[in-house]
Amino acid sequence: MATILTHPVIPLTCGMLLGSRRISLPLLVLGMCCAILPDMDVIAFKLGIAYESAFGHRGFSHSLLFAATIATVASFFHTALRSTHMMTWLFVAFATASHGILDALTTGGLGVEFFWPMSEQRFFFPWQFIQVSPIGVNRFLTERGWQVMRSELLTVWLPCALLLLTVKSFTYFSSSRKSS
Ligand SMILES: [Zn+2]
Repeated sequence: MATILTHPVIPLTCGMLLGSRRISLPLLVLGMCCAILPDMDVIAFKLGIAYESAFGHRGFSHSLLFAATIATVASFFHTALRSTHMMTWLFVAFATASHGILDALTTGGLGVEFFWPMSEQRFFFPWQFIQVSPIGVNRFLTERGWQVMRSELLTVWLPCALLLLTVKSFTYFSSSRKSS
């Protein structure tokens, strides 16, 4: 896993790029929660389910089908989320799927079962530049935990912040040029 602090950064950046008229605050918050949701599967370790099982860590809950299912459930509540059916589905599916995508960019653990249940093959991307996070809070509060956080700040937070800054300043300058 990447850490639970970093997964929500992806939907947060996407929501801020799209703006509050397209992605309402409740939808944004839900998306950020859904980006963490797949790691609820660490409960499998407590239940004695092997990591490499489809119901182990980075198994079915990290699949694209899981993301689509969560998005379908969320889209029933689009009115409460102050959004359209389609936008709710797309944003929640993206947010949930972004979890597995970040995990597949990490340097350790087993790969991600993107295509469960069609295939139990586990995948990594060819580029693995995010240091894998230790599982569990105790192990996170160590020197290695800080190393992981530094790696995530550099490879996820910083590019997201730069992207936001670039797009927002471009939009600001092009709208102020239009109005002048
Ligand atoms: Zn994960």
